[in-house]
Amino acid sequence: MSIDSKLSLNTFKVYKKSHIIVDKEKCMECIDKPCTYCCPSKTYNWEEGDLIVSFEGCVECGTCEIVCPYKKIRLTYPPAGHGIVYRYG
Ligand code: SF4
Ligand code: SF4
Repeated sequence: MSIDSKLSLNTFKVYKKSHIIVDKEKCMECIDKPCTYCCPSKTYNWEEGDLIVSFEGCVECGTCEIVCPYKKIRLTYPPAGHGIVYRYG
């Protein structure tokens, strides 16, 4: 089985409440908005003057916390984890 085939079998149990807390106080003056292009799961999107955080796809890599120049992103872990359920074979 190819790796793509295996990955397509993964399912996520998503916790309903966001585990990402963003203090948006500085987002308007943040020139580069690195959170919008450094996140591998495209969690952050700038839409109509607001930062939209689609936490459901987060893979908890921690990059966004590091790249935010104002340190306004705080990650916690979902109580039950995002719980990737692997269904191989
Ligand atoms: S990098 Fe930080 S300050 Fe900049 S837009 Fe993202 S959350 Fe806001
Ligand atoms: S922890 Fe990683 S995957 Fe999750 S939102 Fe931050 S950069 Fe994206």
